Amino acid sequence: MIYNLLVVGAGASGLCAAISAARTHKNFKIALIERMPRAGKKILATGNGRCNLTNLDAQNHDYKNLNFAVPALKAYPVTKTLDFFKGLGLLTFSDEVGRVYPLTNKANAVSDALRFELERLGIPIFCDTPVQKIKLVEKGLFVLDCEDKPSGKKLSFRAKNLIIATGGKAAPVQGSDGSGFSLLSSLGHTIRQPLPSLVPLFSDSPYPKQLKGLRVRSTLTLEIKGKPRAVTHGELLFTDYGLSGIAAMEISPLVSEHFAFSQADCHAVLDLVPSFDHEELFAFLQELTRASESLPLEKLFFGVLPGPLGSVICKECGMKDLQTPLGSLKEQSIKKLVDCAKAFRLKLTGTQGFSRAQVTRGGAAVDEFDPKRLASNKIKGLYACGEVLDVDGACGGYNLQWAWSSGLLAGRLG
Ligand SMILES: Cc1cc2nc3c(=O)[nH]c(=O)nc-3n(C[C@H](O)[C@H](O)[C@H](O)COP(=O)(O)OP(=O)(O)OC[C@H]3O[C@@H](n4cnc5c(N)ncnc54)[C@H](O)[C@@H]3O)c2cc1C
Repeated sequence: MIYNLLVVGAGASGLCAAISAARTHKNFKIALIERMPRAGKKILATGNGRCNLTNLDAQNHDYKNLNFAVPALKAYPVTKTLDFFKGLGLLTFSDEVGRVYPLTNKANAVSDALRFELERLGIPIFCDTPVQKIKLVEKGLFVLDCEDKPSGKKLSFRAKNLIIATGGKAAPVQGSDGSGFSLLSSLGHTIRQPLPSLVPLFSDSPYPKQLKGLRVRSTLTLEIKGKPRAVTHGELLFTDYGLSGIAAMEISPLVSEHFAFSQADCHAVLDLVPSFDHEELFAFLQELTRASESLPLEKLFFGVLPGPLGSVICKECGMKDLQTPLGSLKEQSIKKLVDCAKAFRLKLTGTQGFSRAQVTRGGAAVDEFDPKRLASNKIKGLYACGEVLDVDGACGGYNLQWAWSSGLLAGRLG
């Protein structure tokens, strides 16, 4: 049988693309082909199992290749996306910073909504069926060579239109192993170097290990070769290998890009007391040393920094005797401690790579696709959507919004 449309990849963008195509082209024969045993596996892992499915501010987000992303985001903005899901039976709520979650707080409600709609539309999903090769034969027909994993047999599918919705290389255990890049490249498309993004960071400093498990709200400046490159604010988690948490994830695409091309020095500089400036913090600590002369140095930061962080700051400043009474601290020493708490430097040595990344930076070159249709400029009938394209955003629901918007647009087969 010749399908009117085959969608490769039944993840967030592919599921939307198939629904959109079935609604737009009522008589089309459509199917999805998925390499994992079930559709939408990654959706279940999103938002720590709660699926942060979009952000109320997504329209203003600074996506990579924003100009390319805008037409899809305008065609399917957040309001339309939420209406789309409501129409599938899914209610949502947003938190105080605009992150949107399913009302059930369970990610499976999101993948169920999409799967139930595909069932209703009668669109089959061939699971456990990796697409290994795509050939373009005469009369603009795509032939897909696949494996039926359970039996090991070779399968072949034919279609007049093809949507590549394979995701990137991030979190390969969820299915996206980068094979979509090879498929698009074999069809003549350029792939910009894929790099792990929204990923924890390695540091060779001993402190993260000592502070393992501690969460702080900080302002993080990424410094490359001594120059500030980016600033983020938010929660930071110290781990035995380095740094995690939103603040670390947000600078991770720049850290990935840096280490892909250079070995030069790269530091995370943490302002651990962002709500007080140098003078205020100095005045506060100086007053404390006067009022509580006999308190040991290890208690200096007890009302300012959590857990053992205060002692770590003292050690970093070369003050090894933590029992020194506060009354004997000189003004110069208090200044040094304040400087350290406001700019605590940790050397970064890399990222945890694709296995721990949430998103891929890089992918199919966007200048080879029409942003208003997501159709290939090189091959008639070929489309792409979601993370396989070189578009990515920050933490907070922006990447799934791109997956929904681009999937719904590509599925129109405009
Ligand atoms: C742990 C984690 C948490 C996340 N949390 C959030 C969040 O809360 N909010 C947010 O906005 N974003 C989040 N993301 C990012 C978001 O999940 C992705 O950006 C989004 O899923 C991308 O959608 P996609 O359809 O392009 O790709 P994917 O969701 O990766 O789907 C691609 C599908 O294609 C299949 N496939 C790949 N190659 C082949 C092949 N050769 N043949 C057949 N099938 C193939 C894969 O198995 C997969 O099912 C998170 C990601 C991870 C890993």
